[in-house]
Formats: sequence, C-alpha cells, structure tokens
Amino acid sequence: VIEVRGLRKTYGDRVVLDDVSLSVEAGDVVCLIGSSGSGKSTLLRCLDLLEEIDDGVIGFDGREISDPLVDPREVRRSIGMVFQAYNLFPHLSVLANCTLAPRKVHGLGKAEAEARARELLERFGLGEHVEQHPDRLSGGQQQRAALVRALFTSPRLLLLDEITAALDPELVGEVLDIVRELAHGGTTMVLATHEMAFAREVATKVCFLDGGRIIESGPPEQVLVAPEQPRTREFLRRVL
Ligand code: ATP
Ligand code: MG
Repeated sequence: VIEVRGLRKTYGDRVVLDDVSLSVEAGDVVCLIGSSGSGKSTLLRCLDLLEEIDDGVIGFDGREISDPLVDPREVRRSIGMVFQAYNLFPHLSVLANCTLAPRKVHGLGKAEAEARARELLERFGLGEHVEQHPDRLSGGQQQRAALVRALFTSPRLLLLDEITAALDPELVGEVLDIVRELAHGGTTMVLATHEMAFAREVATKVCFLDGGRIIESGPPEQVLVAPEQPRTREFLRRVL
C-alpha cells in the first residue's frame, strides 16, 4: 500500500526525518514508537501529504504521490487521518462532522451519507450522541467519532497520531478497543503510539524512530521484546 524510500524532511537547517524507508502491506498495522521529537508525527504528516519533503519518494498503491504534480486532496480521499485532539468541528453535530467531507468531496447524497454515518456511529457505541455537538461528548467519545469520520469513506489507509494521548486514562481503553477491532478486521494502518502493550498486541510491524531515523523495525516480538539496537533497548527501558 505504502512504499517510502529515502525520505528526508527538514525544517530550516533542522533535519527531522533522515533517510526513512518504510513499506506497508495491505492489512499491516505499523506502530511508530520513539521519544518525543523523534519524528513520528512528521512521518505521518508526510504520508498524508501535509508536508513538503526534501528528498525521497512516497509510493501509494503503486503511484508516486510525492510527485509535486499529484493533487494531495485527491490522494487524501483514500487516506483517513486522526490526530491527538481537536479532530471535530465544534459548531457541527457529530452526524454533520462525519458526513460533511464525504458529501462535499465524494459527492455523496445527504440521506445516504447520514444513514451510513448513523450505522457506523451505532457500531462504535455513539448511537445516542448523533445529534450532539462535540463539547457534550467525553474525550473518548470524541475520538471515537473522529475515527468514524476517518473511516466513513473506507480509506485504503488509516493514519493515527497518538489518538489516545490526550485522554484520561479511563477513556483510553474504549478508543483502543475500536482500533483493535479495525486491526483485526484488516484495516491497513500506520499509528504513532506511546502505548507499548497495545503496540505489542496489534502491530504487525513496529518501527523505532530516534532523531528522525528508523533505527530498528520488525515484528513486535523482536523490536519490543528482544531489540538488537542499544538505543531501542534504552528507550524501552525508560518507557516500560
Ligand atoms: P511527540 O511524541 O512529542 O509527538 P514526534 O515524534 O511526533 O513527537 P514530531 O512532532 O514529528 O515528533 O517532531 C519532530 C521534530 O520536528 C521535533 O524536533 C519538532 O520540534 C520538529 N518540528 C515539528 N514540526 C515543526 C514545524 N512546523 N516547524 C519546525 N520544527 C518542527
Ligand atoms: Mg507527535
């Protein structure tokens, strides 16, 4: 689904991603781990074409989407992204939040879009909150609604950037439950997370980033349990 080669990203004279290569196959759940500032969010933003890159190529479904001639808006129709917080429009109901983009971008009819949104919201335990505004929802419910919105158009790829990081601990579980369900259902995902136990459970592949480089990557049993690189070991010692 995704093939990144030699990706380099700088802000001014700061190198934030350095020679990053990554492949993501259909059904993969790739977890990006690493300290604050290691480049996880930047990598996700590059995949969603939210950043200009300095070097390297990003392939998506066999097409070079890092080509400047490619329209990012068109690529993003096939990609769902959820951030740490502030995902929803505060002035719109949950239902309108979920149906706005699909109606505008994909030209879906109102009735059809709302029927599908209601069904998904119901499935994610938000059936009672369809008409409410986001500020009436808990953080966990808001993130679940944000996931519904990201999934609405059945994207080929879901990018999740620490979507539980801003939540109270007791609300983390309900959001991770949904991500787990999606993972088991075969949704292709790349997610940045600080939840190591969760990464170990759902990841097909874990990438450890340090200083903008992928230092080590592989199956969770290897990277999280028996890492080869001293820096990975040191990171895990600090966070576990
Ligand atoms: P965290 O775990 O805290 O979310 P992260 O791994 O997601 O960290 P990034 O947000 O990707 O890290 O940031 C990587 C580096 O890029 C950091 O040093 C950060 O200061 C820098 N950076 C990020 N965005 C910008 C920007 N818009 N302008 C300048 N520097 C930036
Ligand atoms: Mg981040």
